[in-house]
Amino acid sequence: MQQKRLHRLRQLMEKQGIEALLITNATNRMYMTGFTGSAGYVLVTTDRAVLLIDFRYMTQAPQQAVGYEVIEHAPNLMNTIADVMGAARLTKLGFEQHDVTYGSYVSYGQALNGIELVGTDGLIERLRMVKDEQELAVMQEAAELADRTFTHIVDFLQPGVTEQEIALEIELYVRRHGAASTSFETIVASGERSALPHGKASSRLLGTNEFVKLDFGAYYQGYCSDLTRTVVLGKPTDQHRRIYDIVLEAQLEALSRIKPGMTGREADAVAREIITRHGYGEHFGHGLGHGLGMEIHEAPRLSKLGDIVLEPGMTVTVEPGIYVPGFGGVRIEDDIVITDTGNRRLTQSSKDLIVIP
Ligand code: ZN
Ligand code: ZN
Repeated sequence: MQQKRLHRLRQLMEKQGIEALLITNATNRMYMTGFTGSAGYVLVTTDRAVLLIDFRYMTQAPQQAVGYEVIEHAPNLMNTIADVMGAARLTKLGFEQHDVTYGSYVSYGQALNGIELVGTDGLIERLRMVKDEQELAVMQEAAELADRTFTHIVDFLQPGVTEQEIALEIELYVRRHGAASTSFETIVASGERSALPHGKASSRLLGTNEFVKLDFGAYYQGYCSDLTRTVVLGKPTDQHRRIYDIVLEAQLEALSRIKPGMTGREADAVAREIITRHGYGEHFGHGLGHGLGMEIHEAPRLSKLGDIVLEPGMTVTVEPGIYVPGFGGVRIEDDIVITDTGNRRLTQSSKDLIVIP
């Protein structure tokens, strides 16, 4: 696994003329090395792959980081980096510009006398977009856990229960079934609060004849799932049904058309066109979806700004929504993987409107 990723990274580095890359981002460090400790750095050059850690991890790191030289770095990391760079006569060091603070950048510069620092933009994030079979297998399990959680939580939805109690039950369920945690702060938004796209669970009591929007996921073996379903508690009105049906139509149409070769913008437009045609365009104020993997939001995004072309192995969410202030909102979200010819759903929960009497 590590060798394959190193190979792909070195190809990217070569294309961009980067002879040495310092990885400071924790998720990228884990992705490249398999090392799960909470601190450490990675230095990749044409012929060396080094994991730099402190003494706490000198037992764990060599066991996990197959194919890496593991070095205990000096109190000032940059002194060790300078040594490795000097030994190979390297004079340019790429760093992850979205991860390094300005303060760190300044101190790197002071310690790395004579070595030029070059900002790089999302190199490993690009590798991480396309998942391998092993990653897809874990993500499938994370998705199945989200599905089982949804089935479990439907029985808890009743008037008088707070949104927070529902969120707590979701958290307990995913953790009891193998997740380290939920993959983000659970959203339980009921009644007029369901019009808040990111309404995290509050002390509001679930009522009757209203939407309950549930958006949650499992963080399972290092990967995230992300599922949204909206149900009606009590009796749905025509407006509840109408909004639900439009979101469902948009979601199903997007699922049937998303395929490799399409940009995130084109995918977004499929759903947006349907919602707009029904007159709710202004109430769909976010993108259609986002990449999903080790992090809950990664590249590529499916939105008006999505210019990345979808490729087999990419995992994204498809989550159109309509939010009507003062009334309520609906979102329906599944996780999918792009295949050679289209896409395959990872989450399988039913999307028929669930009415809880
Ligand atoms: Zn979600
Ligand atoms: Zn999402």
